[in-house]
Amino acid sequence: MRLKVLLSSILLAAISCTTPFAASQKLPQFETPAWTRPFTPFHIAGNLYYVGSEDLAAYLITTPKGLILINSSLESSVPQIRESIEKLGFKYSDVKILLISHGHFDHCAGSAAIIKQTGAKYYVMDSDVSVVESGGKTDFEYSTRTDFHFPTTHVDRALHDGDTVSLGGTTLTAHLTPGHTKGTTTWAMEEVEGGRTLKVVIVGSPNVNEGYKLVNNKQYPQIADDYKRGFQVLKTLHCDIFLGAHGGYFGLAEKYPRWKNGDKNAFVDSAGYKAWIAERERAFEAALARQQAGKL
Ligand SMILES: [Zn+2]
Repeated sequence: MRLKVLLSSILLAAISCTTPFAASQKLPQFETPAWTRPFTPFHIAGNLYYVGSEDLAAYLITTPKGLILINSSLESSVPQIRESIEKLGFKYSDVKILLISHGHFDHCAGSAAIIKQTGAKYYVMDSDVSVVESGGKTDFEYSTRTDFHFPTTHVDRALHDGDTVSLGGTTLTAHLTPGHTKGTTTWAMEEVEGGRTLKVVIVGSPNVNEGYKLVNNKQYPQIADDYKRGFQVLKTLHCDIFLGAHGGYFGLAEKYPRWKNGDKNAFVDSAGYKAWIAERERAFEAALARQQAGKL
C-alpha cells in the first residue's frame, strides 16, 4: 500500500509538474495537498476570474448570457468550484459552457457532475473527445490505468484548431497544442482592464509525463511532431496575462500575494510566459534526445 502511494506520488508529480509531496503524508490516492487545498477566488481582469484550487486551475468568464467555466478538475473539486463561483457573487446554475485544458482526470474528472448540476454544454478539442467520452480509457498512455480513469462524459461540440467559443459578447480561441494529450488546448482571449486590452493565454500543458514514449510510440506515432507543433503555436501567441492548467505553471502562489497587496498587474507577465515556454521546450528537446539515443 505504501509503495502504491509512493508510486502514485511520483506519477502525480510528473503529471502536474508541481512540487512532489511527501509519501509519508496520508492522502487520497490521487490528490496532492495543493490540488485540493482551497484557494480564494479572485478577479484576474475584465470578466475573467480564478475559481480553482491552489494548483488545479479553473477559470470563470462571466457574460450577460451566462458563464463559461474552464476546467472541472477532480470529482472532489466540484463543490469547491461551485463555492468559489458563489463567493464571487455569481450563480453556479448560470454555467452554460464547460471547457477543459486537456483530457486528463485532474482537469476533467469533475465535468460529468458539473454538467449534470448546471446543464452546461461541453466543448472539447476533437482529438481529446474520445478520451473524455470514454472516461480516459482511450488515452494513449493511461488506457490500462484504471486509477487514472474518470466518469465518462458526453461532448456536445467537438472543437477544431482555431475554433472560437462565444457567449454574451466574449470570444475565446481554442489553439491545439498537442503532445501532452492529443487534444491539449491552449485558450486565448482578450480582456480590457484599466483601459488596456490585454491578451490572455491559458496554457493547456507542454509537459512530457513520466513514461511518455516520444520515439516509436505505437499508440501515438506523431507525438514528437505534435509537441514541436505545440511549441511553435505557444511561441507565436502574444501573451500579456500568463495563466495555465496548473497554478504552478504561471507562479500563482508567488503572484497572488502581490495581487492581494494591490498589484493588479501581478499576472501580466509576458517575459515570464516566454521564459517558461522556452524552458519547457528545452526539457522536451532533452527528453527527445535522450530517447533517440536509446536512453530513458
Ligand atoms: Zn495532464
